[in-house]
Order: sequence, then C-alpha cells, then structure tokens
Amino acid sequence: MLVLKFGGTSVGSATRIKEVADLINDSTKKLVVLSAMSGTTNALIEIADYLYKKNHDGANEKIAQLENKYYFEIDELFLKDECKQKGNDLVKFHFEYIRSFTRDMFTQYEEKEVLAQGELISTALLQYFLEEKGANSALISALNFMRIDKAGEPDEFYIRENLKRELKEVKNIDILITQGFICRNAYGMIDNLQRGGSDYTASIIGAAINAKEIQIWTDIDGVHTNDPRVVENTHAIAELSFDEAAELAYFGAKILHPTCVMPAKIANIPVRIKNTLDPEAGGTLITSGSQKQRIKAIAAKDGITAIKIKSGRMLMAHGFLRKVFEIFETYRTSIDMITTSEVGVSVTIDDSKFLTEIVDDLKKYGTVDVDEDQVIICIVGDLIAENKGIAASVFNAVEQIPLRMISYGGSNHNISILVKAEHKKEALVSLSKGLFESVRF
Ligand code: ADP
Ligand code: ASP
Ligand code: MG
Repeated sequence: MLVLKFGGTSVGSATRIKEVADLINDSTKKLVVLSAMSGTTNALIEIADYLYKKNHDGANEKIAQLENKYYFEIDELFLKDECKQKGNDLVKFHFEYIRSFTRDMFTQYEEKEVLAQGELISTALLQYFLEEKGANSALISALNFMRIDKAGEPDEFYIRENLKRELKEVKNIDILITQGFICRNAYGMIDNLQRGGSDYTASIIGAAINAKEIQIWTDIDGVHTNDPRVVENTHAIAELSFDEAAELAYFGAKILHPTCVMPAKIANIPVRIKNTLDPEAGGTLITSGSQKQRIKAIAAKDGITAIKIKSGRMLMAHGFLRKVFEIFETYRTSIDMITTSEVGVSVTIDDSKFLTEIVDDLKKYGTVDVDEDQVIICIVGDLIAENKGIAASVFNAVEQIPLRMISYGGSNHNISILVKAEHKKEALVSLSKGLFESVRF
C-alpha cells in the first residue's frame, strides 16, 4: 500500500481538491493523509487567541470569515445540489462547534480541539467529493488510531494495532482518507503533532503499515538546495539519504516536519516528495542508499539562543559537562549545537521557555552569557574528513559574516554555523553562490 500526504496548498481550494481527487482516483490501494486547507490552521490559531483573551466578538468575527470561505469553496467543488447541501451542513456543524467555545473556559485543551477542525473538515470534503464522483473511497478518523504517549511521542504499538483494526473494516476500498496532524494524547484527549505535523502522520502511518512508499505531495518540486523563499536559483535535489533529509528538516527546511523522516528511516520505507502543481516533475527520493555528493543542500533554523558558560577552574574537571547538561535535562530543553574550549562551553537551544531558570542554575558553575536572535545554518552533504576542502569552501563563502559558533564532525553529513538573525539572508545567499554556483564539484 502507498501512503500519500497532501499539504495545505494541495487542498487549498476547490480547484486543488479536484486535482488531488484526479491524482488519487485509480485502483491502486492507498492511504491518503490530508492537511487542513491552507490558511485554516493559522486562522484557527488566531481564533483561539481571541478565545484565550475572552474577546468573543473578535473570535466570532474571525470564525464567520473563515466559515464563509468554506461555503464559497463548497459551491465551486460540488456539482449536485444535494452534495453542496451535505458539504454546507458539515461546515456548519464544525463551525457551530468552534462557536461553542465562545461560552466556555478556554485552555490549551480546548485550543487543540479547535485546531483539529481544519483537518476534520478537509478530509470530509474530499471524501464527499469522491463520493459524488462515484470513487471507491472511505474516510478513517485519525482520532481512532493516532495517539501520543505521556512524553508526546507516537505510541507505535497502539497506532499499529488500532490502524490494523480500522483497515480491516474497509478491506475492499481502494482509496482511504485520514487526517494528518491530529491525534489523541495518552488520556484520550484531542491533541496534535505540532505545526506541519501532517508529514509526521504520513511517516508514522507508513511505518505502521509497512507501506511500499510514503509520498509527500506539496507545492514545490522536491527538497531544494536552499530555502527558495530566501534565495534565488535554488533547484530540487533528486536524491537524499534519510540522515541528510533528517538534518535538513530538523535544521529548518520547512518542506518537511522536523521529525518526520525518523519513522520512515527506522522502517526503511522510501519517502518521495512530489509537486501537486507539477505531478510530472521528478521530485526528491529519500532512501537509505542515496548517491553521495559533496554538498547537497543548506537549511536555516531561526529563533535560536546561544548560551556560553565560562569556568576556567572547572571546565576540564570530569563531571562538569554532565552537571551543565543535567540543568538542560531538568527543564526538558534540548540542545542543538555544542562547542567547547579549555575555558568554556557554548550551546544553543531553540526553546527558550525556561531560559531564565536555566541561566540561573548555570551560574552555579561559571559565568554565563546569552545571545538571543541567532540562526543555525546547516550545510548538508557527504562531509567526511577525506573530502578535502569542503570546510574551506564553506568558510570562504561566509568570510564577510561574523560567526558565533561552528560545529563540524558531529556526523558525516553536517557542518553548522551560528550567525545573528540579521546576517541570515546574506549567509544563505553567499553560501549558495560559493557552494553551488561558482564551485562545480
Ligand atoms: P505543505 O503545506 O505542503 O506541508 P509547506 O509550506 O509546509 O507545504 O512546505 C513547502 C514549502 O517549504 C515550500 O513552498 C517552500 O517555500 C518551503 N521550503 C523551505 N525550505 C525548502 C527547501 N529546502 N526545499 C523546498 N522547499 C522549501
Ligand atoms: N494543518 C497543520 C498546520 O498547518 C498541519 C500541517 O499542515 O501539516 O500546521
Ligand atoms: Mg508542511
């Protein structure tokens, strides 16, 4: 079986939904994972913000705006009046539910229920449309099988067993549709896999059913050499290894959710990125054995804080680093980059929720400096030491830019540098020019 995930833009309008239906409407057995229509999750977050602030008039205005968009698309989508009616009733039901929160207490639990409505609507609309076309399709609710545990990690056993049960009930159906992003938590409440999490859903499902391939259909023809929103003249990369793709996703390539490569890697299931707007384009194939290439791509991760702990007396004493890392563990804050010297250690974090507490505790062991508003730039490829000159070409490319940290050798496929946010664009453009345009490997 294939798993196909379509992102927000791919189902962003009636026209797009029709295109997706054409792409999936054949007799190959497939499980289709959908995101909410583009803009919906952002709009729901805005609505939740009004609800938190108890500004019910503001919330109602935004709810009505979003709801009306759906009625417009439904009119375009369906041919038959009875199907239009069914679509309108569905939308009315979900928006009445969202409106019900304008009367109640609003906490993070209710927010998750509000956010889930986007995927619940998009999947039902596609199913209704396929029904109108007479396709052999069925909807399976992700809330019946997708679950995270107390640590927020996918509960693999639960997912596999429950998905198996759901699939048994629709054995003779070719096209199965489910929601990306949404899940239940360990207590059975509605939760989600974080922003962009539909990619993660597809990968978790692919691993659970041992799919032949996981296809991520999006609005671009594959993983590009650099962020196309920031740099011109980027191009799609034909092949990536799981590790390379994981580094790029983790270090900011928005095209993939940060952790979505892992389940596919563990189960060794190929992941193919395809363009809904240009289905014939080759895309990017992610496997365990992709062709090696000196430098494949560059990504950037924003919102990074660097913390330097200096302690001439203690650093090289054994146990010092353990004490430092334990502080981050206490506050469940993960570290992205690390560099050390004789007298100090610098680390970066992307979650600064407990920054004050962390810095307070670190001060027991040395003097502490914090630099906020930093960006990690990650260069990915086959960067083994024998591949001479790669580090030199990276540093030549950014010679005009002040570097706060440098990390090389942690793995064979990543060099990371830390720069101030104000230098991000210049660094990405210079690296693109230096690594992909002037130097030909
Ligand atoms: P979807 O809604 O399908 O999940 P996303 O918006 O999450 O799509 O991801 C696709 C977008 O990711 C592209 O339109 C592009 O702007 C952005 N992007 C950032 N970095 C890269 C990259 N290295 N390669 C391709 N796209 C990237
Ligand atoms: N709809 C969710 C979001 O916008 C999940 C996704 O699109 O992957 O974050
Ligand atoms: Mg996405």
